[in-house]
Amino acid sequence: MRHLPPFVRGHIIEAMSSPTTELIKNKLDIVEFLRGYMVLTPAGKNFKGLCPFHHEKSPSFMVSPERQSWKCFGCGLGGDIFTFLMRHENIEFGEAMRALAEKAGVELKHENPAEYKFSGLLYDLNETAKKFFQKAFAAAPIAQKYCADRGLKKEIIEEFEIGWAPNEPEGLSMFFLNMGTAPQDLLQAGLAIKTERGLMLDRFRGRIMFPIHNHMGKVVGFTGRILPQLDRGDMGKYINSPETPIFQKSKLLYGFWKSKDAIREKKSAVLVEGQMDFLMSYQSGVKNVIASSGTALTADHLRTLHRFAEELVLSFDNDTAGSDAAERAIALAEANDFSVKVATFVDFKDAADAAQADPENVLKTFAAAIPAPEFYFRKYLPTDTAALSDREGLLKLRAVLEKLKDIASPVERDFWMKELSRRTGVGVKVLEEEAEEISVATAPDYSKRGGQAEVSEKPKPVARRDLIIERMFAAALSKNDFGIFDDCEDYLAPPQKEILEILKSGARKSDDPALDETIGTIVLRASNESSDAEIKTLKTELMKEYIKERRNILKLAVRNAEASGNDAELKAALEELKNLPTGNGDERLLV
Ligand SMILES: [Zn+2]
Repeated sequence: MRHLPPFVRGHIIEAMSSPTTELIKNKLDIVEFLRGYMVLTPAGKNFKGLCPFHHEKSPSFMVSPERQSWKCFGCGLGGDIFTFLMRHENIEFGEAMRALAEKAGVELKHENPAEYKFSGLLYDLNETAKKFFQKAFAAAPIAQKYCADRGLKKEIIEEFEIGWAPNEPEGLSMFFLNMGTAPQDLLQAGLAIKTERGLMLDRFRGRIMFPIHNHMGKVVGFTGRILPQLDRGDMGKYINSPETPIFQKSKLLYGFWKSKDAIREKKSAVLVEGQMDFLMSYQSGVKNVIASSGTALTADHLRTLHRFAEELVLSFDNDTAGSDAAERAIALAEANDFSVKVATFVDFKDAADAAQADPENVLKTFAAAIPAPEFYFRKYLPTDTAALSDREGLLKLRAVLEKLKDIASPVERDFWMKELSRRTGVGVKVLEEEAEEISVATAPDYSKRGGQAEVSEKPKPVARRDLIIERMFAAALSKNDFGIFDDCEDYLAPPQKEILEILKSGARKSDDPALDETIGTIVLRASNESSDAEIKTLKTELMKEYIKERRNILKLAVRNAEASGNDAELKAALEELKNLPTGNGDERLLV
């Protein structure tokens, strides 16, 4: 089950609706806008395409120009341009608002102008700092030499806007202060720090500067790598901008703004450990790469990725720390429904080193990534199966079982259990028993599954009859002929009768949010014209469903009447039950 972020829920969409959002929606054509992200083809009055939020072969993603809304009948997501952009780029509503207002040429008036201005200011300061660092880089042979020595090509340095923070106490700060920037703002943006004696000091000094772009491509922070000859060991080799309202490390993936198209195309992402690994892999031709910046992989990162990829290839440092980090990442990624592989560099420490020596090696190593269970076999199982017979051997076997028992897919789990049996000579049945014991011994760790919020995110079940009626509405709408309801209006619930009247009147919207949501679904579903045969089937199905519901109600009535000894009620219920049509092609109720 895919994890749906809470903002697709109806009540939040309503809460966001305002005169400004309506104005923006009126100015931007949803079809034109979405075409920037996907291929849409006409389908009746609507448009359809392959859903960017789940993987499918035939289109179930519908867009209604009439209602300026979209819905996917495959995964159930839907909304307007705001929700689309928020989901697609993994951004908050405020950021989507800013981006769309800019596109629509709408000036924003804010309920909280101070906060909005502050975010805008943070973007400006980071952008200006980036340009300052780039200019400094162009004038610093020492920084250029370091990058060249590490194997970074000029084009990559330009594409990712790499810069240089001069080794001065207040080079950047003075530059900003001379432009009239308030010292407080520089501190808040994390570009300057205050010393114990209250002096302003540049946060980044003598460092190669890697700007961190958000998923829309705006600079929101930096990672600075100390130049080795300046490293006195008293500061970190790498330091990062602090978290700000526009920079959240647990959500941002380094390089994603550049690699998301390749990730979407391949449905697979390669996760490396840091900026250098990212840049060198990218330069070697691996375009579907990302790095977590200044933090370990989080469930938020994975949720972002899952809209584009099913497979995650992990490439961590070829040492114990890297191997342990890989294990944690595998568990998290598997819990988030990824198929996980591990790529290991044999003769090199990491992707950056390997790429510098031989770009081909990087491509080959990623292509030869092994499935996570195989990674565990190689890590834990001794090459000599005889070594499994003692206690230490058993512990190793248990370590592997511990990892296999949580594989979500039964088919995959079965495959790997058999594989483990084949390699160890231990029977599958024994392995299963052992795995069972481990399951009992270790309580499940729900925290890694992303918290409790997801429990409430299961879509509410829709009664089958409602679904059939919805489809009948869509069929009627596509033919613009509501005659099919003439002989079965009795089966509609009161709100459905209301919807029928609204659609008959030619309107496609309702002021009642609950009705409007259903109308939206119907309008989007009406993309393809239904045949008479389909409509006939729907009517038959509706009747069957009605009969089924009625039968259940009557059975309950019989039981109640028996219990209370009400003979009259019992007789009436039994009589109706006896005369209830079978529903198998019996259309008496419909004529
Ligand atoms: Zn979908």
